This record gives sequence, structure tokens and C-alpha cells, in this order.
Amino acid sequence: ARRTLMHVGPSVGNLDVQISSVVPDVGFASPEFVGWMANALEGARYVMGVSRNYSSFVLPYSGTGAMESVTSLLRKGERVLVASNGVFGDRWEGILSRYPVRYKFLRSEPGKAVSVQEIDRELQNGYDVFITTHVETSTGVRMPIEEVSKVVRDRVSLIVVDGVASVGGEAVSAEDWKVDVFFTASQKAVGAQPGTSLMVCSGRAMERLGGESMAPFYLDLRNWKPIMDGMETGIGGYFATPPVGAVASLSRAMDLIRNEGMKERVRRHERVASIIREGVEEMGLRVLAEEGLRSNTVTAVLLDREGAGEIVKRSMELGIEFATGPHPALRDRYFRIGHMGWVQEKDAFAALSVLRRVVS
Ligand code: PMP
Repeated sequence: ARRTLMHVGPSVGNLDVQISSVVPDVGFASPEFVGWMANALEGARYVMGVSRNYSSFVLPYSGTGAMESVTSLLRKGERVLVASNGVFGDRWEGILSRYPVRYKFLRSEPGKAVSVQEIDRELQNGYDVFITTHVETSTGVRMPIEEVSKVVRDRVSLIVVDGVASVGGEAVSAEDWKVDVFFTASQKAVGAQPGTSLMVCSGRAMERLGGESMAPFYLDLRNWKPIMDGMETGIGGYFATPPVGAVASLSRAMDLIRNEGMKERVRRHERVASIIREGVEEMGLRVLAEEGLRSNTVTAVLLDREGAGEIVKRSMELGIEFATGPHPALRDRYFRIGHMGWVQEKDAFAALSVLRRVVS
């Protein structure tokens, strides 16, 4: 029997989107594929709130690949400031440490966010690039990007935001916020099949492709840019083979997102998130993220003891799949509820009844 998937991505699928990924014998040079790509590229702009002033990319790798693709835009010796609120913010260290850049991390306690004041203060030391995470999936914390960007944007020449766990479930206006690079992955809140990531880049970011590259060949946006440009004008192209079925599914997801409208989609995520938070607190459990920083897409639930793994296991037996928690400071003391993509109120109610039974 199918479970209700309330993991942190993929999370609550849509059968129409899933079935759309089955596309027997459609080649990547076909007009069908070029059409799906063009639709997905325009959809990426829509969900991240940018105009045609931004270049759009649909890339054949998961969110981590998109993160590492950002190295296409970095220059040797640049100073990078990262504001990390948890495990996925910290993932930048694994990436940046392999490249000839200088970096510094500001880090928060689990459930909190690095403050605008701390960022403001550290920027006085002089940086070229600023990187942060919109929704930190390990804790469910949402960074106030608009506020942060106001302090950062005139003091660096590149702002990068990891929107992997936010885009499609949170309001994003990357262009108004003057964020240069915003990206997400298909399996998260846009609710398509895993296997692609979506990235939008400002003109200021694209100018950086003119410089010498230190990015890995496959992840270098220099190689993908002409392919994307072609797709948007109806011309197929090849740099490396795209996942045809995953792109078909993404294109279908974008149709459904436009039908729903981003405003309404964000409101639906808000409603579901608040039902889950209230229900969790009524059971005497604690929401890890501080009030005011709680995301629409991920709720991390803190126990006063160990045993989160057991809760996840028993919930799975009763038909709801939650996620364990990866934060090294909390380990088995917390688990996460993903509520993104196509999640509805009824899924939240089902999740809460299973949880009530399992924790009592
Ligand atoms: N960033 C964030 C905020 C994430 O939530 C994730 C995935 N959980 C990633 C990056 C990495 O994405 P992927 O697993 O698709 O490589």
C-alpha cells in the first residue's frame, strides 16, 4: 500500500506529475523535449520571482550539484562569507574547501538563524561573495532573505541563496531582493521527480562566466548556458544527456503550479504548516525552529529524550513516512515532518493522528 510521504523531499507527490515522467522513446533532440525544457526554464523564473533579466538553467543533477555549479561563478582568491543555520549551510564547506577561495562561516545554534546584525558586522571585514540558505532543511528554519539581502547586496558582488527546500512553498522574489543566484531541486517544493535542479542567475552573475573557470567540467555553467539559450528559442542542443523523463515531469509540475498560482500555493503551504505546528505543540512536543523563523515546508520536532528514530519507524508502519534528523548536535532527539509540493490539509491531519498514537 502507498504511504503518505511526509519526508523533506520528495514529499507528497502528485500522480499526474509522476506519470508524466514516463515518456517512452522521446529523444532529447525532439520538439517535445525542447518544449518541456523551455516550459521548465520559464517556470523556474516564475517560482523564483525573476524576469527575463535573469538567465535560467535546468540542470541534470540534484541540489548538491547546483550548489557546486556555483563555483562556475567564483574567481580565484575571492573572499566568501557563508551564513549557515545547519547541516545544509555547512555543506558549502565541503564544496568551498576544494577551491582556491577564502571563506568564513557564521553559524547559528540549531533552531536559530545567523542574525542580520552579525552578518552586517562581519561584512566590515570585506567580502566578494555572500552565500546563505533560505530554508535550512535540517532544522526547518527560514532565513529572512529580503532583510538579509538589504544589508549585503551593495557590499559584495555576488549573493547566492540555496532555495532547495523553499522554492515552490515559500514566497521568493529573487529579482526584487537583488539576489544574484537562486536555485532549487526538482524533488522538493516544486514537487516533480528527483533528478534535476533549477537555477536563475542575474546579469551580474552571468558576467562572471567571462572569467577563468575553476568549476568541474560537467558542472560548469559555461557549458550549459548555450544549451539553455537554445532550448528557450526552440532549438535542441547537446552538452551532456539530459534526464528526459525528469524534465517532462518538471514541465508538468510547472503547468500545475501556474494553474494554482504561486500566491495561493504559498498560502496552502502556510495553512498546512500551521496545522502541523499547532498539532505538534498540542501533543506536548516542541517545534525546533524559533518563533518567527518557522518555515512553510519543514517542521523539525524536538523530543525531551532520545527515540526519534523509533517514532519515524513506527509511523512508517502506520502509513506515514517522516524523516529522521541529520543535525549532529541533536541526533536521535528530533525528527522532521516535510510538508511541501502537493501537500494538503488532509495529509497534515493524517500525519498528526499517526504521530499522536506513536508518541503516546
Ligand atoms: N540544500 C538544501 C537546503 C537541501 O535541503 C538539500 C537536500 N536536502 C540540498 C541542498 C542538497 O540537495 P540534493 O539532496 O538534491 O543534492
